[in-house]
Parts: sequence; structure tokens; C-alpha cells
Amino acid sequence: MKKTHRISPLWWPVMALLSPVLAPLLVMENRRFSKDRDRASQVNQERIRTAKPLELPEVEFMELTVLVEAKAEEGYLGEPGVSYLFRTNLGLLIFDVALGSGRQVLAHNALKLGVGLDKVDAVVISHMHLDHTGGSMKGVQVPAALGSPAGKTCFLPDKGEAEGFNTVLVEAPRMLAAGIGSTGPLARSIFGPLGWTEEQALIAKIKGKGVMIFTGCGHPTIEVILDMVRSLSHEPLYALGGGFHFPLTESRMSFAGIQIQMIGGTGKPPWQRITEEDLDRTIGTFNNAAPQKVYLSPHDTCDYALTHFAEKLTADTHILKAGAKYRL
Ligand SMILES: [Zn+2]
Ligand SMILES: [Zn+2]
Repeated sequence: MKKTHRISPLWWPVMALLSPVLAPLLVMENRRFSKDRDRASQVNQERIRTAKPLELPEVEFMELTVLVEAKAEEGYLGEPGVSYLFRTNLGLLIFDVALGSGRQVLAHNALKLGVGLDKVDAVVISHMHLDHTGGSMKGVQVPAALGSPAGKTCFLPDKGEAEGFNTVLVEAPRMLAAGIGSTGPLARSIFGPLGWTEEQALIAKIKGKGVMIFTGCGHPTIEVILDMVRSLSHEPLYALGGGFHFPLTESRMSFAGIQIQMIGGTGKPPWQRITEEDLDRTIGTFNNAAPQKVYLSPHDTCDYALTHFAEKLTADTHILKAGAKYRL
């Protein structure tokens, strides 16, 4: 396994020079991070304990169209942000809006696929990280080319605004639209500026198949998400999809020689890597949960980890690509 330096060696002398300033800041942030990590665990346990079963309608079918992903079919653009369209017999829902209204990717792919806000029942944001909200940490922005958001609902897992939408804050598990529900926000402490992160995952019951779960980045960890889903539904697990944040050897997002996803969002302090053991533990959790299908997002997971997943998962495994349609 060839690992990229998380911070380019060119930065090392600068970091050494700045260490009298950096070291105390890192110590302070680590204290905040550790405290929040324990608090997030308690908050999640309490939410799981008090969650009531969700009245999920049985959808006749579910089709997933990938609007934006790190990998793309020919003729589609890719970027390390995500946006997905879920279609059931009960409606249409967009999950996340990629990296930005200032970019062409979501607009280009959505137009090519004939997807506009006019046909969609609601937009749902997994969490307020810029690769899911349209490029901002504070609010949601959708490219104008998708049409007017007036009168449309945007479900957020945390405080924030969605420009032009009817913004609804999801505070607990609930139904969203198109027969699809939310796990409600689940917390994770992240080191550095991302800090305390609330993330919701989608959950639905597909006729004759079972439950499907779909995440954004999967920051709360699959273990916590599965525990919540077990409180919400007693149906067998059928499909598991989305991002699970495993940039082991490289990051899809880098800036000035800094591998951003390998440092931020890992659930560890920046001086600890995500290891192969972490990956194997997650794969073990997947296999124990025994879904029939797995749909992995490449946007926050490196090719090395994707190959590893595909080899070791017992489920029928797909790597998501922009422009592709999947019948779940
Ligand atoms: Zn994230
Ligand atoms: Zn992400």
C-alpha cells in the first residue's frame, strides 16, 4: 500500500518553525475534540435509546440516479462532492447537492439527466460539510440551472439556511418525502474546524426486499447508524450505501499539498492515520449486518480502500458513478 504524505514534506520546515505556536493550539483543540467525542457518544446512545419505530411505508421500487460523484460515466463530470436522486413510486428526493453552485458539475450532470427541482418533492442534506451542501459550511446552495427552489422543502440535520427553500430542521428520526425517512441527526466529534458534526442518513423499506440505508459521509460511523436503524425498523437489512470516509492512501480533495480528507473528518486527531485495521473492522461490521447489496461512494474513500471493500464484502458491491442508475 503506497501512502501519500498527508502533508507535503515541503510544509515540514514551516511546521517546525511554527511549532511553538502550533503545539499549544493542537493540545487545546485535542482537549475539545476528546471531550466532544465522549459527549457525542452519549448523545447518540440517548437518541438511539429513545427512538420510536418509524412508520416506513413499503415502496414498490427504488431507483438511485447518481448526479454527482468522484467517479463518473463517460459524458458526465466528476468531483469529490456528492448528489443523488432517489425515485420511488411515492416520489422523488435529492440527497445532497455536491460541492457548489459556482461549479458546473451538478448543473451539467442534472441537465443531462433531465433532473430539475420542479419534479422533485424535497431536498435532503446529510450534513453541513461543503462537499454535500453546495460548497458552504453554513448554508445550502443549489445551482440556478436546476430551477427555482421556491415552495420546495430542504431538510437539514443542523442549523443552517437553504437559499430559496422552505428550510426544515430535522431533530429526530422522521419521514421526509418519497416514502423515505431519516435516522435523525447522529453526532460525531471531528478534530479542527469541522468540529461537532450532525449527520442524518436515509432509510426506506423496499417491498419484498427489506430496509435500505444511505449515508452522506458516514461520519457517525456505520456501527452507530445501524444501531439507530435497529431502533427504527425490525425489517431485515437489504442494502447499505453512501460514503464511509476511508481515505487510506490518498484524499480526493487536496489543497497546496495537504490531503484534506486524510486529516479532517476521520474521527481521529490529525497525527493519527486511518488504518487498515479500521477498514477491516468496518468491513466486518458490514458483513455481520449482512446486506445483500452495497453501494460505495468513492468521494471520500480512496481506490485502495474501495478495492479492499469490494474484495472482502460478502454483499453484491457497486462503486457509485455519476450518470449511472441503480435499481435498488
Ligand atoms: Zn463530511
Ligand atoms: Zn463527504
